[in-house]
Amino acid sequence: MANVLVLVDHTGGKVRKTTAELLTIARRLGEPVAVYIGDGVQDALPALGQYGATKVIALTDPELSQYLVAPKAEALQQVAAKVEPSAILISSSAEGKEIAARLAVKLESGLITDAVDVQEGPVTTQSVFAGNYTVKAKITHGTPVITVKPNAATPEAAETSPEVEEFDVSISDAAKTARITDSKPREATGRPELTEAAIIVSGGRGTGGDFGPVEAFADSLGAAVGASRAAVDSGWYPHAYQVGQTGKTVSPQLYVAAGISGAIQHRAGMQTSKTIVAINKDEEAPIFELVDFGVVGDLHKVLPAATEDVTKRKS
Ligand code: FAD
Repeated sequence: MANVLVLVDHTGGKVRKTTAELLTIARRLGEPVAVYIGDGVQDALPALGQYGATKVIALTDPELSQYLVAPKAEALQQVAAKVEPSAILISSSAEGKEIAARLAVKLESGLITDAVDVQEGPVTTQSVFAGNYTVKAKITHGTPVITVKPNAATPEAAETSPEVEEFDVSISDAAKTARITDSKPREATGRPELTEAAIIVSGGRGTGGDFGPVEAFADSLGAAVGASRAAVDSGWYPHAYQVGQTGKTVSPQLYVAAGISGAIQHRAGMQTSKTIVAINKDEEAPIFELVDFGVVGDLHKVLPAATEDVTKRKS
């Protein structure tokens, strides 16, 4: 079976859920080989084995982490030259997409970004024009380089014990033009990461800028907090929490939209959620076309009441 390379997305050895999704997809296409860049590969091994990586290629040269994306693209090119994979899968993060683009140029290969599904072939599915069209595509030149959006697959366990192969790379001076001078983790909220959360409570313009009731309800459920672009553009919530076409794509078990009208660009980021609940004071709001449960009412009254109820049930 042909090898399929998966670039591991991790923070200091803690593997992100998107990598489990990529490994699950890679198993449909061939033999999943994980490419791990940075320190902490031993910490990452159990998670990589759990989702079926048969081998882990470890690139530990510190220069790979000292500069922005260019050295990583060069390193992947060198790994690809040795492994000759049938496809390369990378997470659709900002960094992932930049690495993928540079890599595709180096390999003289076709590139597909933001796939929401990848099947044998590999044939990709993309959701475009705010989810109004679904495009199926196949790369016909070179080694397919594909970036995959979060939640494109449900991670399926397949216990393996991957062997680790250290891989030496040589990084050109041209790739070392942008050095990372400082990096700080985002302030910890104690809430789950937006794209990985099972429950998300999002607030929109209807909050009037007060996200207190949204956060309190989210905390009662152990949920992540999201926001519409109107709320983000108003400076009420950071862009990292924006859900939608120009924000994050989420697909939780439960998505609660409070004070959000349901514009097509917002739907594009959350319409695949398993259960959707909306709280909106306008019974004609378009979000109600999409929901499983709708509450017509003022979120400043509905959310505190719901929070109190959930808290009571838990005690
Ligand atoms: P509004 O549309 O103003 O809706 C507010 C809702 O709150 C209304 O339905 C109102 O009835 C209700 N409300 C008001 N007060 C209360 C209350 N007290 N209690 C309950 N309900 C109340 N948007 C995104 O969200 N994500 C994106 O990624 C995104 N990308 C975009 C990309 C492009 C290229 C463009 C053109 C637009 C994009 N947008 C995006 C913007 C999108 O078109 C909408 O403008 C935006 O989603 C509206 O946000 P909203 O629903 O919070 O605000």
